[in-house]
Amino acid sequence: MPPLTDPLTLGQKLVAVLESGRRTATYKLAVLMALLDLAVESVPDDANDVVDINLDDLTTRVIELYWRQMRPLDGHRLRQSSDGRGVIFDAVAHLRSSVTGAHRTPSVDLVVAQGSPECIAAHATVKQALVRYPLKLLQNLTTGADNERFLYDDSWMGTGSKRVIAEHGNALTLFPGVCVTLARLAPLLKPAFQLAWVDDVRRMNRSVLDDGPDLAHHLFGADRISLQRAGDALTQEFGASCFYCDASVRAARHVDHLLPWSRVGIDGLTNLVLACAGCNSSKSDLLPAPEHVGRALARGRTVLDQLAVEINWPSQYDRVVSAGRGLYTTQPMSTPVWQGRNQIQMLTRVDFVWPG
Ligand SMILES: [Zn+2]
Repeated sequence: MPPLTDPLTLGQKLVAVLESGRRTATYKLAVLMALLDLAVESVPDDANDVVDINLDDLTTRVIELYWRQMRPLDGHRLRQSSDGRGVIFDAVAHLRSSVTGAHRTPSVDLVVAQGSPECIAAHATVKQALVRYPLKLLQNLTTGADNERFLYDDSWMGTGSKRVIAEHGNALTLFPGVCVTLARLAPLLKPAFQLAWVDDVRRMNRSVLDDGPDLAHHLFGADRISLQRAGDALTQEFGASCFYCDASVRAARHVDHLLPWSRVGIDGLTNLVLACAGCNSSKSDLLPAPEHVGRALARGRTVLDQLAVEINWPSQYDRVVSAGRGLYTTQPMSTPVWQGRNQIQMLTRVDFVWPG
């Protein structure tokens, strides 16, 4: 089967997934969003290589997407399917309630890393359900037709058998060129998938939602308040100054996602810096100039990992390295990047030299 690597064709097919009928659950959207993020973090040196996406990683990302969405909104846990039920988010909701303490719910990355029996069970349940349904059905754009596969071979899927999953390397294999194409399309497609997801959740929860709450923020926005604990740790370790311009942040301290939350959604300490109000609002959702990422990584893996352990927070050093590499190498030349307040530069080939 000839793989489709033309970005426009692939993009059209992914948009068709969005439009193929009224969804009764949000699983396909979750899988697509997780795949886009993992593609950005898995960009191969040779764009035409096939790329394996580990199914445990994919499962963790899907759990992560639902994790924050399980927070009650105005006292309600929002439905993610028409009837409010489903194997995947029941498993996530159960796991979440089992680890939620009196004051807060831990980050899902830590929960997965700690590997409690409840977590291992929930993870296995979600993985099997993903292989059985959404991963098998994702590329069916029209029912009954002979749908050409455009992302990965799903002929062996449709089963929850652990043996079959293991026989296929516990991975889905993206066709040649697909990983890089997905990474390039991610900035265009992620907002579209998020909008579709917000629409679905609004429709599935009509009885409890009026137009009031900011549903998009609830489902996908960065949770500023919960970042303050990380901000305290960063202040103690690196001082109360703006990472970008060195101004004091004692009056107004912002915790900034270095690689923008809207692009990669990494909450790990490695992706967090202190920023003054001016830099924070000027940078907004722009990609930072690569040297900022270099400086953030130069704070040191050991220091960041240690600091993360002390406050029971994920560090995600490797994830920042691979996401940064994927983001910058797949941007077109001359993409604007944020250098400093009122300083926008164009990305150049030189910037592509990437540490680690
Ligand atoms: Zn600043």
